[in-house]
Amino acid sequence: MTTENGALNRRLELRATGLRKSFGGVEVLHGVDITVKGGEVLALLGENGAGKSTAIKILAGDYKRDAGVIVIDGEEADIRSPRDAGAYGLRVIYQEFSDAPDLTVAENLSLGRLPRNRFGLVDWSRVRRDAREILEKLGIELPIRALVGNLGVAERQVLEIARALAGSARLLILDEPTSALTLEETDALFAFIERLKARGVAIIYITHRLDEVERIADNVLVFRDGDAVAEGPVSKFGRKEMVEAMVGHELVEEVASLRGEGHEIGEPVLTIEGATSEGVFKDVDLEVREGEILSLFGRIGCGALELAEAVFGLREMTAGSMRVGDRSGQPTSPKDAIARFGIGFVPIDRKTDGLLTVLNVAENLSVASWPWMTKAGLLPPMATAKVFERWYETLDIRGKGGATQIVDTLSGGNQQKVVLGRWLERESRLLVLAEPTRGVDVGARAQIYQVLRRFADQGIAVLIVTSDIEEVVRISDTIVVMSRGRVVARHRASEVDRAQLIRQAAEDTVEAAAAG
Ligand code: ADP
Ligand code: MG
Repeated sequence: MTTENGALNRRLELRATGLRKSFGGVEVLHGVDITVKGGEVLALLGENGAGKSTAIKILAGDYKRDAGVIVIDGEEADIRSPRDAGAYGLRVIYQEFSDAPDLTVAENLSLGRLPRNRFGLVDWSRVRRDAREILEKLGIELPIRALVGNLGVAERQVLEIARALAGSARLLILDEPTSALTLEETDALFAFIERLKARGVAIIYITHRLDEVERIADNVLVFRDGDAVAEGPVSKFGRKEMVEAMVGHELVEEVASLRGEGHEIGEPVLTIEGATSEGVFKDVDLEVREGEILSLFGRIGCGALELAEAVFGLREMTAGSMRVGDRSGQPTSPKDAIARFGIGFVPIDRKTDGLLTVLNVAENLSVASWPWMTKAGLLPPMATAKVFERWYETLDIRGKGGATQIVDTLSGGNQQKVVLGRWLERESRLLVLAEPTRGVDVGARAQIYQVLRRFADQGIAVLIVTSDIEEVVRISDTIVVMSRGRVVARHRASEVDRAQLIRQAAEDTVEAAAAG
């Protein structure tokens, strides 16, 4: 409930203790406590898999807890479903939107409680009037007649929040809300969160970005491996303390021992200068050499993925220059990148972009070399069989069906090897990979790293975009850290440790640049 000026009548106080959760007999949350009050932002910080989402899904009634007590406003809360949580004023804003894209902003704000007139029909003028009122109270500007499907991601997020507040939410939980936002959209969201805070809304903000924590949080709670390992007012934490809590002291180590050593790095293959794509990445200089594996490391949304897309002709640079070998210019399309620049690309979602899942292994290995034939799906079996013979051992593809196994039926790791094999066959000079081992099991991961190292040993330049710290330290020769669209640090892999990398990836670029 809100008053005339939009302030909450009743500020919520939530105290959860001893929350536990297991999946399939494995405990992933080992009894954590969470406390938050109206008018405060609690940042929930932790590496991937630390248990952040699990904990808030328990609060939101999405997951049933194995143990633990949730006390709201001094009384034990009986939360067993999202509906229960809603009744206590708890709302999670997920990244997958729950709005209705085919309806207008106004209709979405009344969703589930459309006002009716005395004839029992929906009172549309009242729908619009209510919407205007809600938005005004919250200080939000949204076009109320626009279809929600036509709004930007940030606008939809704000709309989700508005819907939650219109339904009297008193605690908003935001699970990594900025990962899909541009820098400007993030600023707008933060300004909005400040206003919500002032109105007395309690906010749990999940992130792994330290700069965001410093900007908007009052209190910090750090999760690691299912435990709450540190908490307190944000003023008490420096970045070093936050990172150490996230990764644990025992993980801070030199990384040289984890990589292959002693191979030759030759001439530059890819040279990029001042690369810019408005609002996505800015002023990036990069050089990847023969035999070098260079990782662009950063959080999701840091701009590295988009930079890789630009290198492969999937996205335009608005400024800057690019050269591959002695060929200057930016590829105009993936086809151009493959044919004229000799670039191979392994996309982030190989299921939809990379693999022709209805083709067999041999055909998939061959398609990049015969791009003109792929549309018709008419690859000559004799030729594709030869290609398979050539790379079978190097790639170590483990499928029962050999050359003619349909790739859809291979495991994720083996599918990824097929994608890699294509570019071997195509004799690419530069291979660009996005999150190459995401969704790949540990064993296949090691095999993929070996294949990549073999690529590099043949003189191919390898550029990897990854947000996986383990990956970075295991295979890179060189590590370039990006944050908020800019390069914030460059390292020879032997000269940096994990904590330093994580800290840099989470840093605000301005400060990072100032620090050198
Ligand atoms: P975070 O949000 O901090 O990245 P999560 O809470 O999503 O972490 O995951 C914590 C652990 O619980 C991970 O090991 C994850 O694989 C596991 N996990 C989360 N949800 C499920 C689920 N529905 N089924 C099985 N395991 C899960
Ligand atoms: Mg999560």
